[in-house]
Formats: sequence, structure tokens, C-alpha cells
Amino acid sequence: MQTPQKIAIVGSGLVGTLLAIYLKKQGHTVHVYDRSPDIRTVQFSGRSINLVMSNRGWKAMEDVGLAEEIRKIGIPVDKRAIHLQDGTLKEQFYGKEGEAIFSLSRGVLNRRMIDLAEDEGVEFYFEHKIWDITMATATLYVGDDERGQWTELHYDKVFGADGAFSRIRHRMQRQSMFDYSQEFMTLGYKELHIPANADGTHKIDKNSLHIWPRGEFMLMALANLDGSFTCTLFMPFEGMNSFEQLNNKQVLVDFFAEYFPDTQIVIPDLVEDFYKNPTSYLAVMKCYPWTFSDKVALIGDAAHAIVPFYGHGMNAGFEDITVLNQMMNQYGDDWETIFQEYQKSRKPNADAIAELSRRNFIEMSAKTADEDFLVQKKIEKWFSDKHPDKWLPLYSRVTFSLQPYSEALAIGDRQNQIMEEVMRMENIKERWNSEEVEAKIIKLLQ
Ligand SMILES: Cc1cc2nc3c(=O)[nH]c(=O)nc-3n(C[C@H](O)[C@H](O)[C@H](O)COP(=O)(O)OP(=O)(O)OC[C@H]3O[C@@H](n4cnc5c(N)ncnc54)[C@H](O)[C@@H]3O)c2cc1C
Repeated sequence: MQTPQKIAIVGSGLVGTLLAIYLKKQGHTVHVYDRSPDIRTVQFSGRSINLVMSNRGWKAMEDVGLAEEIRKIGIPVDKRAIHLQDGTLKEQFYGKEGEAIFSLSRGVLNRRMIDLAEDEGVEFYFEHKIWDITMATATLYVGDDERGQWTELHYDKVFGADGAFSRIRHRMQRQSMFDYSQEFMTLGYKELHIPANADGTHKIDKNSLHIWPRGEFMLMALANLDGSFTCTLFMPFEGMNSFEQLNNKQVLVDFFAEYFPDTQIVIPDLVEDFYKNPTSYLAVMKCYPWTFSDKVALIGDAAHAIVPFYGHGMNAGFEDITVLNQMMNQYGDDWETIFQEYQKSRKPNADAIAELSRRNFIEMSAKTADEDFLVQKKIEKWFSDKHPDKWLPLYSRVTFSLQPYSEALAIGDRQNQIMEEVMRMENIKERWNSEEVEAKIIKLLQ
């Protein structure tokens, strides 16, 4: 246990709330501030945004004994269901038998975690917007508006878990030797909805992540507990097949009929949802350092916002907490070292998952519809089942293992070179599981 400190966390999102539980268990006084109202009091529309949790997220949950509780509100997803434009459906399992990612409602998860944090003794202050921080003294400034009267809040330490557009990071940016980059994607997203059947069952397989890959754009769907699915349409803002083009009802209906014909029966409110729901932006934020002396640290999206195509933003944020906790256990009250080691350990891994996530758009939106790619994946799975000590596919390394993201990225690149050579073998589609293919991979691995 560490010497108790008075700690503030800015942000009651998934990362801020889980961090609060960890810090409270270490014996600290923990106050969490959020500009938004308490999510538990906000009327749910019944439709919820969902996300997937994989092993890194579960590890952070398990270490504080929350995994079992949270698993109850998740749906295991063990494969991709790939909907081709001609109506063919292909399945691609993510890992070995029994391995699955979990679809969770973001709202339900966040509410449950705030309840659990309060049970631990964490204090939440909702509708408290933090406008600024004095880093040297860990003093926060809260108030109703930017130019109004602010109240000072004094702490021993402050964590900025205030998301991609972090105010805490904003203050850090004004120091010298602080690196920062922000890149908006030319691609945006919009949420749509597949309702449940009348009896509450799911209209399509709930244990699959459904993808409709169409090259420059794609639709995906993840199941919710209430029998519905949340769909996300990712596409460019402008140009061919873009949000800009879908500017009237008939164009939209025709577009879906052409590109996503099998969604016509399952998305009955397409037009209403499409024009009611916002088109959201995607951005990548990188920065360094993440900490200031022994006073302030950034965590989660505030430190590293990534695109969502690997489903790892929250998982990476939860892994930040695992690593921070390891450092707290290792270095006790030496917070300066804790913060230094935390950022040194996490930064290369945050950069690696940012890169993997960017690349995964191409895999999901284009490659999953490509025959050669599916053969390649089949070979990798077959070889890995035969030689688990020699080959773990990249997706499994990232999602079902705790290997640092940076190592997974490097090994994945090497494996990809090998597979490119294998795919150049004559008649590879016919002899994909032959002795020659096996021997070739073993040779290339040496
Ligand atoms: C479309 C989409 C799909 C995704 N899917 C997945 C997925 O499948 N798996 C996955 O792991 N990740 C996914 N992510 C990423 C994931 O949502 C984020 O990485 C995660 O929510 C980050 O959590 P956070 O707590 O760091 O930040 P946030 O969730 O952004 O929380 C920040 C909190 O800080 C508060 N706040 C902000 N500024 C202030 C201030 N000045 N004062 C007080 N409070 C403030 C906000 O109100 C908010 O509550 C997805 C993201 C998107 C956009």
C-alpha cells in the first residue's frame, strides 16, 4: 500500500472510472470530476453505442475483481461474419475455439462501473467542468463558464482521463519540449440500428461481428443484450460513395439497396436514423510526455486517441491502468519514478496500437472481401493450430494475448512478409494445407 494521497481524476468515462477504483484500492482519497451529468440519471434512448472488450481490458477488470460482474453484461463474439455484396456470407473465426471478444454497451458498462467505484468509496462530482490546471501544485479550476468565476481545487495529484480533447493535455501543450499531433481522418461514421425481433431475439447471429466490406467504406454491426444491433457506417465525408453524396432519401435507399442489399429487411428505420443521427469525426492524437513531475499524468484517450478499427481504444486505456498499477506496486511512494516508468512503458505501445488500428480499416473494409486474403488467413490459422509454439496470428497477439502492442506489430510485419511469399506459391489455393506449405513457412521462420 502507498501513503494515502488526495487524488483528482478529470473524466468519469470508462478509463477514469476504472482508474478511480484502482487508486481507491491503493488507499487514496479519490475524487472524480466530469463536465457531463451523471450517466446513471440520463434517460436511455434504448439504443446504445457498443464496444468490444478483449483480453487486455479483461486483465484490468480481473485484477480488481470486476471481470465476473462485467461479463454478465457482455455478449461473446467469436468471429467475423462477412456479408459480400452478392449476398454470400463468409465466416472467419477470430481465434482458437473458446476465444472471443465481448460486445458491451458503453452506457451500461459506464453506469455499472460508476456504481462499483462508489461502492469502493470513490466520490463523483458531475456537471463540474474543469477549465484549467496549475500543474506544479496539482490545482484544478472548476466553474460554470470559461470567463466566469472559477473555484480552486487542491490535490496531491491529478489524472487527466478527460478524453481525446483533454483540457489537462491542453495545459501540458503549453510547456516547451511537449510533442503533440492531431490528425482528423477523411472518413467519418454514423450509427444505425437493427431492432430486436418481437420476441426480443436477435435478427442476425449475435455472436458475430458483422461486416459489410465495400473497399473505401463499410458497415459493421455488433449485438446488444436487448436483441438489437448497433450498426456503424464508416465512409468518406466527400467524394465517391461518401456522406456528402447521400444527401436525399431516395439516393440513400438506392445506395443501401445496391451495396448492402441484405440489410433492407433488418434496418427498417434507415432513413429516419440516417438523417437524425450525427455524422461523427475520427481523429488520432499523439503526445509526449504524458506526465508532469510527480503531480499530473494523462491516461486513456487523453494520452492517445486512436481510430476504432481494431476495437482497442478502451482496451489500451485499461492496459495503461494495469501498467500504472504495476509501477505503483513496484515503486511505492516514489511517484516521480512511477510516472516516468509508466509513460516510458506505454508510449511505444500506444503508438503501435495507433498504427495497427489505422491499418485495420483496410483489412476490414477491403481485404475481408478478398479471396486471397481469406486463403491467407486460413493458412495462418491452420499452421498456428499445428504449430502454436511457432505462429500466433497478429489478431490473436493483439486481442487474445497481453504481449506488448509494439512487439505484436513487429512480429506481425515479419509474419506478413512470410505470408506474402507463401501466397506466391503455385496453386496455393488448392494446396493451402499441404506439407510443402508447412515446410516453406518453417523454413522462412528460421
Ligand atoms: C465509433 C467508436 C467505436 C469504438 N469501439 C471501441 C471498441 O470496440 N473497443 C475499444 O476498446 N475501444 C473502442 N473505442 C474507443 C473508446 O471509446 C475510447 O478509447 C474510450 O472510450 C476512452 O475512454 P476515456 O475514459 O479515456 O475517454 P472518454 O470516454 O472520452 O471519457 C472522457 C470523459 O471526460 C469528461 N470530460 C472531458 N473534458 C472534461 C473537462 N474539461 N472537465 C470535466 N470532465 C471532462 C467527458 O465528459 C467524459 O466523460 C471506440 C471509439 C469510437 C469512436
